[in-house]
Amino acid sequence: MNRSTDYDLIIVGGGMVGASLVLALAGRGLRVALIEAYEADAEGQPSYDDRAIALAYGSRRIFDAIGVWPALERLVEPIHDIHVSDRGHFGAARLHAVDERVPALGYVVTARELGRVLLDRLHRDAAVDVFAPARVVGFEDRGDSVAVEMERGGLMTSLRCRMLVAADGGNSIIREQLDVPVVRWQYGQSAIVTNVTPTRPHGNVAYERFTDTGPVALLPMTDQRCAVVWTVCDEQVERVLQLDDDAFLAAFQRRFGYRLGRFVRAGRRSAYPLSLLRARDSVRGRVVIIGNAAHTLHPIAGQGFNLGIRDVAALAEVVDDAFSAGGDIGAAHVLDRYRRWRTTEQRNVALATDGLARLFSNPLGIVRLGRNVGLLAMEFLPGAKHPLARGAMGLLGRQPRLARGVPLG
Ligand SMILES: Cc1cc2nc3c(=O)[nH]c(=O)nc-3n(C[C@H](O)[C@H](O)[C@H](O)COP(=O)(O)OP(=O)(O)OC[C@H]3O[C@@H](n4cnc5c(N)ncnc54)[C@H](O)[C@@H]3O)c2cc1C
Repeated sequence: MNRSTDYDLIIVGGGMVGASLVLALAGRGLRVALIEAYEADAEGQPSYDDRAIALAYGSRRIFDAIGVWPALERLVEPIHDIHVSDRGHFGAARLHAVDERVPALGYVVTARELGRVLLDRLHRDAAVDVFAPARVVGFEDRGDSVAVEMERGGLMTSLRCRMLVAADGGNSIIREQLDVPVVRWQYGQSAIVTNVTPTRPHGNVAYERFTDTGPVALLPMTDQRCAVVWTVCDEQVERVLQLDDDAFLAAFQRRFGYRLGRFVRAGRRSAYPLSLLRARDSVRGRVVIIGNAAHTLHPIAGQGFNLGIRDVAALAEVVDDAFSAGGDIGAAHVLDRYRRWRTTEQRNVALATDGLARLFSNPLGIVRLGRNVGLLAMEFLPGAKHPLARGAMGLLGRQPRLARGVPLG
């Protein structure tokens, strides 16, 4: 039941990132409201569809610390090894969980299942007022608080909070209303996403293969299926979506090869146009922008949500520290601590992901030679792999308490 119009924290967007923030702060005594445009089980909910999400090992530790992992663990498939190669060329590199002394480099789960676990937990445990379906249509930062205008069932309601969090995705209206400058471009590529069943066991290996039309990722899933993320030029999208299953499997087989035998069954296909967006600032007054609203990445390295949940872990710690000390959670020095903590990593991961997307989509001979040499160097130079693996697992830089697996309280 909705009880109040006055909150410590209002979070706009109950996607993976907004819902995780609510759970991270649950039980800490804050008055929290979550405003989400879709009902929990609505078909059109954009965050919780059939795409496969590779959760980095570092994200697992955050889910552990916020008590979500036991429910998620039953639904995920671990990634024990990652195999990166340039299809038809000499370069290849491999990362192994045993070398990094972790049980898995990451875990694959569908966004839909992840959403079910997060929202179920949120509705059962968290002392939070959930407004859904409802939309934020505007807000005003009044210096000592933020007034939020929400539309629900055709009615407008005003709410007030000390701090507003924009977790409203790549097309964030909060970010736009703040007029925060962004770096943004389209890649002219789309990701075709589906799952396939190979005749050989996937062996918990994730494959990243670079092909002359763009990267292909194959991730181990439950029931011996593999999640496919196949990057194609925008002009090819419709043709690939229209293929019948046999023709699709044959086309994908030509792209990926026969390392896992033949692909015999395909799931439903969907396409996502790929773009990059990075907000040049993530804090304005009492408003913080997190997750895809602050950075939307090419899925080539599976870093989008993993970066977003690290925003969550850092913000939860900053807010909890201020609240526990009896301070104002939306004060400038509090939010500046968050900004300083996150800016460098957000920029580095966005730049690295963009660099990878460009490097590995470039068919020029000299570029291809360079990247094959790079892959070999990574495989054979002592000391080259470990930092890369730590980065992919989200374990570089100063780790918030939650990312070290330590609950806030
Ligand atoms: C093909 C593909 C594969 C990917 N694979 C991976 C992967 O393997 N690993 C990984 O880490 N990441 C991956 N990602 C990225 C990941 O999906 C995103 O980073 C993540 O979904 C972002 O979550 P979010 O909550 O920030 O935003 P969203 O998921 O966009 O959620 C925003 C929410 O805000 C709500 N909303 C919007 N406006 C309003 C409003 N005005 N009022 C109220 N509510 C509003 C929306 O309804 C939505 O629920 C992938 C992405 C794609 C496209």
